[in-house]
Amino acid sequence: MTVNARMSGSLAGATGTITVDLAQIAANWRALAAKVAPAQCAAVVKADAYGLGAERVIAALSHAGCTTFFIATPEEAETARKLAPEAHIFALDGLVGGCATAFANQGVTPVLSTLDDIAAWAALARMRGETLPAALHIDTGLNRLGLPVRDVRRLTADPSVLSGLRLELVMSHLASADNPRDPKNRDQLLAFETLTALFPGVPRSLAASDGLMLGPAYHFNLVRPGYAIYGGQASQLAPAPVKPAVRVAARILAVADVAPGETVGYSATWRAKRPSRIATIAAGYADGVPRNSSAPDGRPGGHVLIDGHLAPLVGRVSMDLITVDVTDLPDGAVKPHDFATLIGEGLTIEDAGIAAATIGYEILTRLGPRFTRLYVEDAA
Ligand SMILES: *Cc1c(COP(=O)(O)O)cnc(C)c1O
Repeated sequence: MTVNARMSGSLAGATGTITVDLAQIAANWRALAAKVAPAQCAAVVKADAYGLGAERVIAALSHAGCTTFFIATPEEAETARKLAPEAHIFALDGLVGGCATAFANQGVTPVLSTLDDIAAWAALARMRGETLPAALHIDTGLNRLGLPVRDVRRLTADPSVLSGLRLELVMSHLASADNPRDPKNRDQLLAFETLTALFPGVPRSLAASDGLMLGPAYHFNLVRPGYAIYGGQASQLAPAPVKPAVRVAARILAVADVAPGETVGYSATWRAKRPSRIATIAAGYADGVPRNSSAPDGRPGGHVLIDGHLAPLVGRVSMDLITVDVTDLPDGAVKPHDFATLIGEGLTIEDAGIAAATIGYEILTRLGPRFTRLYVEDAA
């Protein structure tokens, strides 16, 4: 955390905390922007800025010089527009049922992925007698959201479909960018170059956090990182030039001795082989600690840090609580009401993901509302 940091928020009665280092988030964004220059660097702040709080994150990134934001839903667009009145805001989910007029009024650019939505947005432009901004999402092999090649060709065969629209961006999304050796990256790059040639002069965007690490050929005019800005390392093979910005901690509620042969937790999945000490911590699956981060099947499970010492999760994760084995910790290290670290101090979001057979993205975006969000920023 930043020295001379200013902290806001209260800890009284908080069972858990998420400490968001806004200065580090700004530094991460700046490092990514420097890496891709002269391409522009946007920030993806969907899902409440990956669970960290869109309000504070958008303000910090705007202050750092970010002028383009991507969100997913109309509700997120409204929030982003309030927080960043001058910014370019792209809505990845496109025209979600009935939001077109709101987008037009708010100056939000929908990312359009179907011919129907393109037609609807163009019709609105004609009805209002104005030019509306639009982005096109074309599919290059992810087969998720994006115009299939056939529809891209139909669109360019009849450009009148786009009349009334000002194309601000044509974009696509990579399927396997977390593995720089996957030939699918190159295939999608070539498809993207071929298809975007049909939209001469329109700015292009292909890469997210891990895509931008594939090199300048993938940067085009704009990159769209999310996860890396928050300190995530999507790719183990090509780490992004960013540092962790999030600490998650939860309160130790009690410490108890457990005799050999005794079990801990629901379904008695863990049995003490020796005289043990078990600490109970106030975070559970309702808070986003995955139920399978304790691993009775022998898979390595999750850990917390208490006073700098690693302690493994044992027994089932329950709704509000986890139990950890602190038998090997020094006397006096485990004190009820102290905080145990779930993420931070070397325990990464990726570690938490691997422990639950998922990815850090899911860990980050599912951290629940019972955590008190604390924000650290440079003293102004
Ligand atoms: C979520 C998303 C991003 C950001 O991805 P990260 O891996 O978090 O950088 C970029 N583009 C699209 C289309 C997305 O859905």
